[in-house]
Amino acid sequence: MLYQQNITELKILSRKLEFQLEHSRYAVVGIQATGIVSVLILLWFQVVHKTVLLSWAAGMFVLALNYSLRLGSSLHRDWCNERPSRVHWELIVGGVLLGFSWVASIFWLNTFLSDQYFYLSLLIVIVCYMAILAVSAVVPGVYLAQIFSVYVPIAVWLGWHYDERAFNLVMVILLAGVSLVMSLASGWMSKSVSQLVVVNLERAAMADDLANLSMKMSDRNAQLEQARKQLADLAIIDELTGLRNRRGAKQVFDVEISRATRAGTPLGILMLDVDYFKLYNDTYGHPAGDSVLQKVAEVLLSVTARAGELAVRMGGEEFMLILPGATQRDVMNIAEVIQKRLADAAIEHRTSPIASILTVSQGVVSCVPQLHIEAADMIEAADKALYSSKNSGRNRATLSPYEP
Ligand code: GH3
Ligand code: MG
Ligand code: MG
Repeated sequence: MLYQQNITELKILSRKLEFQLEHSRYAVVGIQATGIVSVLILLWFQVVHKTVLLSWAAGMFVLALNYSLRLGSSLHRDWCNERPSRVHWELIVGGVLLGFSWVASIFWLNTFLSDQYFYLSLLIVIVCYMAILAVSAVVPGVYLAQIFSVYVPIAVWLGWHYDERAFNLVMVILLAGVSLVMSLASGWMSKSVSQLVVVNLERAAMADDLANLSMKMSDRNAQLEQARKQLADLAIIDELTGLRNRRGAKQVFDVEISRATRAGTPLGILMLDVDYFKLYNDTYGHPAGDSVLQKVAEVLLSVTARAGELAVRMGGEEFMLILPGATQRDVMNIAEVIQKRLADAAIEHRTSPIASILTVSQGVVSCVPQLHIEAADMIEAADKALYSSKNSGRNRATLSPYEP
């Protein structure tokens, strides 16, 4: 078996005791009552003193009832699980007491009954105890206690007095046979029940483990989901193009502005937007559009070879270059190079109203930043220039007149 649980003998005993009590306590008292009533009816006209017989019957019945009630209360208090040894002993001792009462009854009946009625009474006891053994077969200690407290003493006593009645020896043989057969059958039953109990316990333990596991998994999933969200918040790289995203660019931009302000050197910004990109997507499909964005990113990376230069995907089909040290002329040159490289790439765009290939519009700005200048100011200026390019026909670069 792949899945194994360490199930203790005590746990198995607890379950078997519970099973025994649940299923046999009413049966035992019922069988005892049937035996008592049968003997009572059989002997009613044989016994002179009816009160003695009735007292015997009442005494036996109270004993059987007390046994059943005690077991019922153990069951309700969950002692099978909490105090299994106690319940085990209660079953054995109660069973032995009841058994000895029957043995004593047989001894008593022997003193005055004729052979016929004596053997009939004995047969009633034997048959009743066969039924009791059948319902006590779950726990070995219990059925052995019944056999050794009833069949064995009666058989020994009959064997000892074999010559007192005609069929004593026959009865000894019958009792020995019944004891043997019932011991074997009960042993076999008990083993089968043990196996069933183990399987059930393992199944319950497995179900518990599975429930715990799925709870842990859902906790884990929640943690992972949270971690994923945190990572997304922290992410500074655009997944599609591998360029920095807007968040990732912010830090660099601030650093470069401060550096350029301190050094009094120019800082160039280039904004780029793909022309009629929606139409491109509509014509060639979204995955093809993604490839175009990757191609544009490649071109932008190819023009940012110098230290400190950075290509950024601002979002959608909009890109930005941060170009430290670049004058207006440098930035315009880079814009032209981009235009040319894309033209060389000649990415077909048959639905573009302005060309047969994919084009971009750019807006550039360069200045020596002053103390009060912020990234947003330069981006706004570059954006305005970009819109000028869009408005004046696209596929071109416009230099912003921005001066801080
Ligand atoms: P314009 O020339 O005025 O810039 O027009 P446009 O169609 O390029 O601009 P618009 O803003 O109308 O459309 C941008 C399109 O870019 C719409 C959107 O579906 C697409 N887009 C944005 N992000 C992605 C992306 O990651 N992959 C793809 N394939 N398309 C994208
Ligand atoms: Mg566009
Ligand atoms: Mg756009």
